[in-house]
Amino acid sequence: MPQMNVVIVGAGIAGLALAAALRRSGVDVVVYEQAPRLFEVGAGVQLAPNATRLLHRLGLAEQLRTVAVLPQTIEMRRWNDGELLRRTPLGESCRDRFGAPYYTLHRADLHACLLGLSPPEQIRLNARCIGVTQTADSAQLRFADAASVKADLVVGADGIRSVVRKHLAVDTPRYSGQTIYRGLVPADRVPHLVAEPAVRLWLGPDQHCVCYPVSSGQQVSFGATVPAVDWREESWTARGTVGDLASRYQGWHPDVTRLIGAVDVVSRWALHDRESLDRLSHGRVVLIGDAAHPMLPFQAQGANQAIEDAAVLARCLEAASRDGLPAALRRYEQIRLPRTSRIQAESRAGAGTLHLADGTAQRLRDVAAGTSSGLDRHQWLFEYDAEGAVTAPAVAVEDRTSGRS
Ligand SMILES: Cc1cc2nc3c(=O)[nH]c(=O)nc-3n(C[C@H](O)[C@H](O)[C@H](O)COP(=O)(O)OP(=O)(O)OC[C@H]3O[C@@H](n4cnc5c(N)ncnc54)[C@H](O)[C@@H]3O)c2cc1C
Repeated sequence: MPQMNVVIVGAGIAGLALAAALRRSGVDVVVYEQAPRLFEVGAGVQLAPNATRLLHRLGLAEQLRTVAVLPQTIEMRRWNDGELLRRTPLGESCRDRFGAPYYTLHRADLHACLLGLSPPEQIRLNARCIGVTQTADSAQLRFADAASVKADLVVGADGIRSVVRKHLAVDTPRYSGQTIYRGLVPADRVPHLVAEPAVRLWLGPDQHCVCYPVSSGQQVSFGATVPAVDWREESWTARGTVGDLASRYQGWHPDVTRLIGAVDVVSRWALHDRESLDRLSHGRVVLIGDAAHPMLPFQAQGANQAIEDAAVLARCLEAASRDGLPAALRRYEQIRLPRTSRIQAESRAGAGTLHLADGTAQRLRDVAAGTSSGLDRHQWLFEYDAEGAVTAPAVAVEDRTSGRS
């Protein structure tokens, strides 16, 4: 197969990570993004060693070290009296154990790091994809302004409301019944939360709050979930009111109420996921990131998995000139589906565990939390080397490249 040309729909974390990885592999790639300008709104993201090791290999170790924070622990506490339920060590012990750090950072900083790996002419803005078609020889993207483009491979990295996914599946996002308020607080307003950098969670009936420092420690990012049966808007920019949020967290530990009291602006986001797919590609179209496997944020792994997808797909496509595109995409699915389906399921189950009403089940959970405070629980997730999985021996899979439209 001659040099392949790849088009990616969506310049989020998944699309930009893939563009960078493909560029490293010498593949011709262009990213089409619907937004007129690239930005990430004010919110934090946690990156675990399973993703940071891949970002380091893309050449981002130094930049990440500058903008990110290395939290020393994850602390889980009770909602009202702040009793410590579990302390998981991170910091150096996590880095030493897994060979890569656990970071907390501003989404805009991560986005900027990834964007810096692609030349500007590789990213086309104001390009809203409205459909995909394909023949045996090529795939074609259609855009809202009536333009179209042909490629050897189309990658849908267009998020949970993916247009490209419609080419593979007939499904819709599933509302979890939870919304999350997110905000950023200048660190000097909450000194009690920045003295030791940590990921802090408070668990209570039906809801929880998580916070951690970002922007090299200059800000604290928080996410506060609340049950909401009827509010389904899903946008990073939807405003919530601080007053509403404060009223939902009345009676919580002062560390939480002081944090909420210190924020100027909050955004509100209805939490959705989707069922796992049984395939991630069809012919010359493939999905990555939230377009492929949107998950609830309770394991903080959606972006991590998007970065893993990008690394695996790029490595699989390197072999396409030898083995053919169908084999490369089969290999990608075979590697990614078991892992992302498991994390999707565990993320969905997470809400039940985090949000128990006070009572017997909650007490049992808290006792169990106290007996599993090490990093062992995260071993399978954090030690994973996505690129290593590509070079591991393949397990035979059924050929599913035909018979689907
Ligand atoms: C509250 C919350 C907290 C989270 N915290 C974490 C965390 O700590 N750690 C973690 O790993 N993950 C976390 N996640 C998950 C993470 O944010 C997502 O998994 C990740 O952003 C997915 O990236 P993506 O690039 O696949 O999709 P997106 O970020 O949604 O990007 C999709 C891009 O495609 C563009 N696009 C969409 N449609 C089109 C179209 N038709 N044509 C052209 N362009 C299009 C969009 O404009 C966008 O730029 C969290 C999620 C939430 C909701």
